[in-house]
Amino acid sequence: MNKKIVIVGAGVAGVNAATKLVDQGYPGENITIIDMGKDPYNRKPEEVMTGFLGAGGWSDGKLTYHTAIGGHLSKYTGDEKAMELMDQVIENFKRFHPKPEEVQCSNPVAEPDFIKPYFGLRLFPVWHVGTDYLHEIGKNWYDYLIDKGVNFIWETKVTDINFEDQIVSIGVVDEMSYDTLIFAVGKSGIDFGKQLEEEYQLDTEPKPVQIGVRFEAPQKHFQKLIDISYDFKLYRKFDDEGVSLRSFCTNNNAAYVAVEETYGNYSYNGHAKKDMKFRNDMTNFGILMQIQGIDNPFDWTREIIGKLQKESKGLYYSPSRKPSQTSEGNNVSTYQINKEDMKFVKETMGGYFKYIEDFIEDMKKVFPTLKDDWGIYIPEVKYLNPEPKVNHNDLSLLKFPNVHFVGDALSARGITVSGSQGILVASSILKNHLL
Ligand SMILES: Cc1cc2nc3c(=O)[nH]c(=O)nc-3n(C[C@H](O)[C@H](O)[C@H](O)COP(=O)(O)OP(=O)(O)OC[C@H]3O[C@@H](n4cnc5c(N)ncnc54)[C@H](O)[C@@H]3O)c2cc1C
Repeated sequence: MNKKIVIVGAGVAGVNAATKLVDQGYPGENITIIDMGKDPYNRKPEEVMTGFLGAGGWSDGKLTYHTAIGGHLSKYTGDEKAMELMDQVIENFKRFHPKPEEVQCSNPVAEPDFIKPYFGLRLFPVWHVGTDYLHEIGKNWYDYLIDKGVNFIWETKVTDINFEDQIVSIGVVDEMSYDTLIFAVGKSGIDFGKQLEEEYQLDTEPKPVQIGVRFEAPQKHFQKLIDISYDFKLYRKFDDEGVSLRSFCTNNNAAYVAVEETYGNYSYNGHAKKDMKFRNDMTNFGILMQIQGIDNPFDWTREIIGKLQKESKGLYYSPSRKPSQTSEGNNVSTYQINKEDMKFVKETMGGYFKYIEDFIEDMKKVFPTLKDDWGIYIPEVKYLNPEPKVNHNDLSLLKFPNVHFVGDALSARGITVSGSQGILVASSILKNHLL
């Protein structure tokens, strides 16, 4: 049990992997986690994507609990095992939560009639942790791993990995060898994953484009639906046109729009705080289109996102409102555009923006008080990197069985799936070491 494990990325996947290992008696001294962000005591609120628990540490803390949501898990493990892994992730979040009794599950069961003519509603259970508690969870969780002897290297970017010689490069000067590597760089490391896929000519599976906007409006307009499903997911499909749309990651009560920075460009996402002192009675959610049949979807998306920026910010459009403030009281960083400028957005999105316009128009019919009382932050994007092909039992690369890809760097798109993939890999490592 003394092989050296290096985990690149202290995000949800990497931290859950390390936790499973030390919980099962693996010596923490033999585990090193390298992250370009900061530990949970020094991480600042604007560092949304990096640091302890990664993007999950500053997320809106909603742990989806269904195999059809949050990326691929059951494709590797089957449904039963997937649910069991998700239970372990949720248990970890409760275990380090200062008030675990406040982690509640909402589980809507019936699609309401009033949305039916226009939208479908995806029904699935969600555990709510709350963004503000994530900070405390992070500290408690970190302290536990430190107590167990796990080594952390902070504010350090891994710049290359030699899979053949089993060496991680930190800048040009420093190197670290490993026996087993867990590659858990999340969305902030998406470029790095792509670089390695190209360098080692890894077999990958293509992914569709997911692009859209972050919609924001006063919560009162949506309350009727929120009472039925807190994190509602409206959806519609245009099979003949290869386009489907869904509302994504709904935040209510204390709901804030967050800036995400990927590849040097702005895109938007959302936070929900639990502490009622942050209550702003707003709702925000993504309206995301999945578009099939685009050649080279990754580059296509990147180009569009690059164009939808002004003065190094993303865009905001509203027929009546101004951009909101963050929970720290700053204006959400965005450039407000007018109706005339929207022509440029429509052109840039290559004709696909009409689906979003129709979605908003139909929401106005379903939620009649909404009218012009809304705004959109442009763009929201889910970059889905080509997914490296891995062995299903332990998520290791087909060419390099001691290198495991996990979390958003593989096929996840959320906390429970990312954490589960980390735990799956840790379990397989433990099994091999015990043989
Ligand atoms: C604002 C926001 C809200 C969200 N809300 C939710 C939600 O409510 N529910 C949900 O399920 N999902 C949510 N998500 C998505 C969720 O956070 C991610 O799916 C999840 O965190 C992915 O876990 P991961 O471990 O793969 O990557 P991450 O958690 O992103 O961690 C990756 C880590 O790798 C580090 N890293 C990257 N590259 C390098 C490098 N080269 N060298 C060293 N370190 C590196 C980063 O610093 C980061 O800490 C949200 C995301 C955002 C941005």
